[in-house]
Amino acid sequence: MSVLINFKICDNAVECSGIEVCPTGALFWDEENKTIGIDNSKCTSCGTCESSCPVNAIKVAKTDEEYEEIKKAIDEDPRKISDLFIERYGAMPIHPDALISYDDLDKEIDIIKKSLLVELFREDDLECLRRSIPIREMIPGEDIVFRKVDVKNDVETSEKYAVSKFPCLIFLKEGKILGKVEGYFGEKDRDVFQNKINQMIGNE
Ligand code: SF4
Repeated sequence: MSVLINFKICDNAVECSGIEVCPTGALFWDEENKTIGIDNSKCTSCGTCESSCPVNAIKVAKTDEEYEEIKKAIDEDPRKISDLFIERYGAMPIHPDALISYDDLDKEIDIIKKSLLVELFREDDLECLRRSIPIREMIPGEDIVFRKVDVKNDVETSEKYAVSKFPCLIFLKEGKILGKVEGYFGEKDRDVFQNKINQMIGNE
């Protein structure tokens, strides 16, 4: 007896309706990993969570065969949470020119002689995806190149830039880090965020 979550369409938030309605604690909020946790040893396959999910992301399997079928369907689901966030929350779509791979980040740093503002984010990080502030508009002037890098689970990049919180904005010139702003700033924190960006860029 198992419950499965399709994280390709799940907001993965502490407010999950499945957690709220589960009578056994099989679904819970994993604070350490900031994700919905599943303890299938507690799941009775009652189905309460499945019918409570507004985006149909929770599925309950009563048999091993059902489990395999659901898992296969989730694995093959072509949807991406980032696309859904754009649709659901109006988050800013990422301009393809601004998005580079983390493998290319070092090359860009060497090639681009202008100042470089890099946003390191994780596509599967809820707070990164919820960001709807268009950062490009907050960068003064045309002399700063803006790039976004999905670091996925690349520990090396996170360690190299000493990132303690995502998303993380790093301001670089000639490879030297001149400033950093870490964490998520929503629309209501726009002024605070703008001040932090101005301060960081002012370090140049
Ligand atoms: S099926 Fe029932 S017991 Fe299992 S996770 Fe969902 S609500 Fe909890």
